[in-house]
Amino acid sequence: MKVMNLSRRRALQIGAAAGALIAAPAYLHAAPARIVIIGGGFGGAAAARAAKAQMPNAEVVLLSDQKRFWMCPGSNAVIAGMQDIGSIEVGYDAVIKRGIDVRFTRANAIDADKHHVMTADGQTIRYDKLIMSPGVALNYSGIEGINEMTVDRVPHAWKAGPQTTLLADQLATIPDGGLFVLSMPRAPYRCPPAPAERACLVAHYLKHNKPGARLLILDAKDSFPFQDLFTEAWDTLYSDIIEYRAIADDGAVREVDPETLTAFTDFDEIKADVLNVIPPQTAGQIAIDAGATDDTGWCPIDIKTFESSLLKDVYVIGDSALTEALPKAGSTAASQARVAVNSAVADLTGTTAQRPSWIANCYSQAAPDYGLRLGASYHLEDGHVVRNGTDFSVLGADADTRESDARYAEVWLEQIKSEIWG
Ligand SMILES: Cc1cc2nc3c(=O)[nH]c(=O)nc-3n(C[C@H](O)[C@H](O)[C@H](O)COP(=O)(O)OP(=O)(O)OC[C@H]3O[C@@H](n4cnc5c(N)ncnc54)[C@H](O)[C@@H]3O)c2cc1C
Repeated sequence: MKVMNLSRRRALQIGAAAGALIAAPAYLHAAPARIVIIGGGFGGAAAARAAKAQMPNAEVVLLSDQKRFWMCPGSNAVIAGMQDIGSIEVGYDAVIKRGIDVRFTRANAIDADKHHVMTADGQTIRYDKLIMSPGVALNYSGIEGINEMTVDRVPHAWKAGPQTTLLADQLATIPDGGLFVLSMPRAPYRCPPAPAERACLVAHYLKHNKPGARLLILDAKDSFPFQDLFTEAWDTLYSDIIEYRAIADDGAVREVDPETLTAFTDFDEIKADVLNVIPPQTAGQIAIDAGATDDTGWCPIDIKTFESSLLKDVYVIGDSALTEALPKAGSTAASQARVAVNSAVADLTGTTAQRPSWIANCYSQAAPDYGLRLGASYHLEDGHVVRNGTDFSVLGADADTRESDARYAEVWLEQIKSEIWG
């Protein structure tokens, strides 16, 4: 592996993320309180850690509906056979060692008036402050023929874990000359650049393992984030493999036959060997059931505090929240965790919360030695989120830069893994 040359800004971004999670214990003498957190992913586990660090006397309860968690960042590399599934898997031993009460059960309902969470295994847990980070729910209502019951045949792999392994296995069995169809969702969705990263790494696999095989991308929108950078990568590396159709070129998938793996657009009928439909998304189901969503399907919040606009003493962070310019990213969820915890603790202790700021680090790989830096930082200006710094790759960068950025993406992944679950 090459020696990293991290720029000062990138080092600062990592520092900011670390600071978000290992904040000084400023409220040692606060009255005992109970902070309950739903979801042990990026936002939830980061919030649990920040809450225990900021308010050591508080009882911090983390509800996770799975004993192991698989990170989505890095999952496209697993699909392409570049990494093992173990590289994106984490557990909760270190979180438990920090004094956090991790309970492996699903939150089934919330009574916001009584300040209670009811769980699948029959517990009723009282809270003073509730932080929800349940990720996304997949919404198949706009695509006929498929639903949650057909994901074994037509995987989304947009929640990492068994779906990641399934899509990797399907890719590995595609015939030479075969067709992989990738359907990109309309916005907003989890991790704006990640479908294009998936396209790159699937194409990388096809190029090196399946002569004559092709990738067709059907996009339900006009364009996608960082399209110029990804198109440059496709043109450089995969020009004979990738075809992209935007919605204007009949890119929206309207119906799917899961038996024959046929995708129907407005005017076309495409038979695939592997069909990967990433459906539109909404806030996680518990947020919908709790009444924390509005008619957008996402959770409106006070952007300064992340407290729900609809439920008092309930904070919504991560992909489920409606967050103005902030992208739906794990790194952003972790910095939102700090803002929400800061605000909840300030409320509980009668102190003043710090000024909020956030980061987003969606590093992508176009090939094992071709990385793209897609980082940004944000702060609050006149009550709104404003991007105040970027660390974006540029068009036409040389091969050394692309390679060093690919290594950087791997370093970043290990870093955030240990910051949150380590
Ligand atoms: C392919 C891909 C690549 C990505 N790459 C990047 C990247 O490079 N950088 C980046 O920053 N982000 C990346 N992301 C985005 C990132 O994964 C998400 O933004 C992040 O996971 C959001 O965190 P979250 O806490 O909202 O949800 P999650 O991390 O999904 O965590 C939610 C957790 O809550 C659990 N849960 C849900 N409901 C309940 C309930 N009722 N009770 C108990 N538990 C519950 C879920 O099972 C899950 O474990 C990527 C995403 C994808 C799909």
